[in-house]
Amino acid sequence: LSVTDYLRAHIRTVPDWPAPGVQFRDITPLLQDPKVFRVLIDAFVHRYMDKDMRPDVVAGLDARGFILGAVIAYELGVGFVPIRKKGKLPFTTVEETYELEYGSATVELHTDAVKAGDRVLLIDDLIATGGTMMAGKKLLEKLGATVVEGAAIVDLPELGGSDRLRGEGQLPLFTLVDFA
Ligand code: 5GP
Repeated sequence: LSVTDYLRAHIRTVPDWPAPGVQFRDITPLLQDPKVFRVLIDAFVHRYMDKDMRPDVVAGLDARGFILGAVIAYELGVGFVPIRKKGKLPFTTVEETYELEYGSATVELHTDAVKAGDRVLLIDDLIATGGTMMAGKKLLEKLGATVVEGAAIVDLPELGGSDRLRGEGQLPLFTLVDFA
């Protein structure tokens, strides 16, 4: 079994959640099993541990990106910064609003979370339309950092988000499992 197939086998698909017609890819079984969790984290750590790939900072997207990003940062020996939904961060922030299917969302980042010139790895659990990851990249760039790569467990390529991020967004991406 390849790492991809092993991880895929531990992602649960929940039909009609959070809305009718949505097939939600639930990554919590990957975290729950200690061996699978280790394989998952190691897949990221092995990619970013070499000197040429190692970021200065790992940024995680609210909320599953916190779980992955914090452990990956710890293993790489670099700091972790959270990008949060609006209204949660206590210090001064920069913010970015982006469009959702219905309405919009705003994410925030502390102004001292990264320094100009920092090379940042941006982590989430899943890329759908790519809107969340693009908003995170823009936040980090507002503070003068460079997002060297976006990484996620799952890509939903048919939604076009990963193509958009790689294309006009110019963000290299690393994902482990595709779902059509
Ligand atoms: P996007 O902004 O790319 O359209 O949506 C990605 C964001 O929504 C991520 O933060 C991700 O956590 C969440 N998301 C959307 N659909 C799913 C799904 O099927 N499974 C999981 N685990 N997260 C999802």
